Amino acid sequence: MSENINLTGKINERLPAELVRLIEAIGAIASHQDQHLYLIGGAVRDLLLERETFDLDLAVDGDAIAPAQLLANTTQGRLTVHTRFKTANLRWKEWRIDLAAIRSETYDRPGALPKVKPGSLADDLFRRDFTINAMAVQLSPGRYGDLIDPYGGREDLEQGLIHVLHDKSFADDATRIWRALRYEQRLGFRLEPATLELLNRDIAMLDTISGDRIRHELELILREPYPEKVFLRADELQVLPRLQPGLKGNNWLSERFEQARQVSSPTPPPASLYLPLLTYTLTAEQVEQMIARLKLPKSLSQTLRGTCELKSEIASLAAPDIKPSHIYDLLHSYSPAAITAVSLAVDSPETSRNIRQYLARLRYIKPALTGEDLKSTGLAPGPRISDILTRLRAARMDGEVTNRAGEEKLVREWLRKDT
Ligand code: ATP
Repeated sequence: MSENINLTGKINERLPAELVRLIEAIGAIASHQDQHLYLIGGAVRDLLLERETFDLDLAVDGDAIAPAQLLANTTQGRLTVHTRFKTANLRWKEWRIDLAAIRSETYDRPGALPKVKPGSLADDLFRRDFTINAMAVQLSPGRYGDLIDPYGGREDLEQGLIHVLHDKSFADDATRIWRALRYEQRLGFRLEPATLELLNRDIAMLDTISGDRIRHELELILREPYPEKVFLRADELQVLPRLQPGLKGNNWLSERFEQARQVSSPTPPPASLYLPLLTYTLTAEQVEQMIARLKLPKSLSQTLRGTCELKSEIASLAAPDIKPSHIYDLLHSYSPAAITAVSLAVDSPETSRNIRQYLARLRYIKPALTGEDLKSTGLAPGPRISDILTRLRAARMDGEVTNRAGEEKLVREWLRKDT
């Protein structure tokens, strides 16, 4: 029998007093209606690990909307109610508080979304991914703060193990394979040996997962402080090639992700910088397969395509004496995201320097003369004007001209030669 653990002290230490007060009040109200309120999942894990958390999942064995409304009225937070799912979500300061009715889930077939129905707390916890996420804390008076841990989550936390709750877990929902690696690497844990065996057994089930769900898991990975750790591990366990053959989790990727963090600092890199680095090793065809598999949004897809295309053209950017206008010609049709990714991915310091020069300076250079100015000299509107403006911009970049008077002189020379 497990000892009785009470987390009141940790709750008071780690949650703001105002929020604790409210939770106590909601717990008391629920209890008047013969209902119980619980804190569930990741926040319980993080309380035990003494890690920071701003996501609270509250569950009640009854109606979740009324307590959420109370929480919203008293905190002045922003409440969103999903009547269909009988859940509510409250944003208050940096906190995200989800309230849901306790429920259980069954899967009709592997990879399908689960069917949801009311159930007991143990059922609710049983639908979770891993034992460390399948604990709850009682928030009703009387047993306030008591840890509920039917599946041995606390022991796995102590031993640093990611452990599924039952043998069909990965087959029911193979996104849990990616989730296992994400938690393992985030927390510095290991997969529990039987869980590792199940992962190997069910790895093919990853193919049953919809693009939207896999993409969501990938987005969560990219929001981790060190996403490359997850990709290294996914490579080792053959999970990465299941996503797309040709992807590599290795030292090269780790170094590039680290550089991406440096150039993006103080904010973490967006997916539009991490992803083209991840897909840098892919052929154009593989990039298309990955875009289709993950149903990537348009602009991100364009960034991945652009990166791949640019990769095949950058050899000439390595020349030390390349003219700035030539750098501009090579790069200007690509998105800044694709160009930044390539600048981090390339091995040649010359290329990288030339690309940085484009991003920092060349792309902003414009001639002093405008189309209007040229028209006022008597030039007819048409392609000739844009051709002259392009040549002027190149002359500016290459230092052949530095001011408006110089540009006027150049244009006069060009026009004289052309006539
Ligand atoms: P956490 O909130 O655990 O730190 P997160 O915010 O990165 O992690 P989410 O994807 O928001 O993770 O998951 C929140 C909780 O929902 C998890 O603690 C987990 O128990 C549960 N959960 C999410 N996805 C699944 C799934 N596919 N199968 C089972 N449980 C899941």
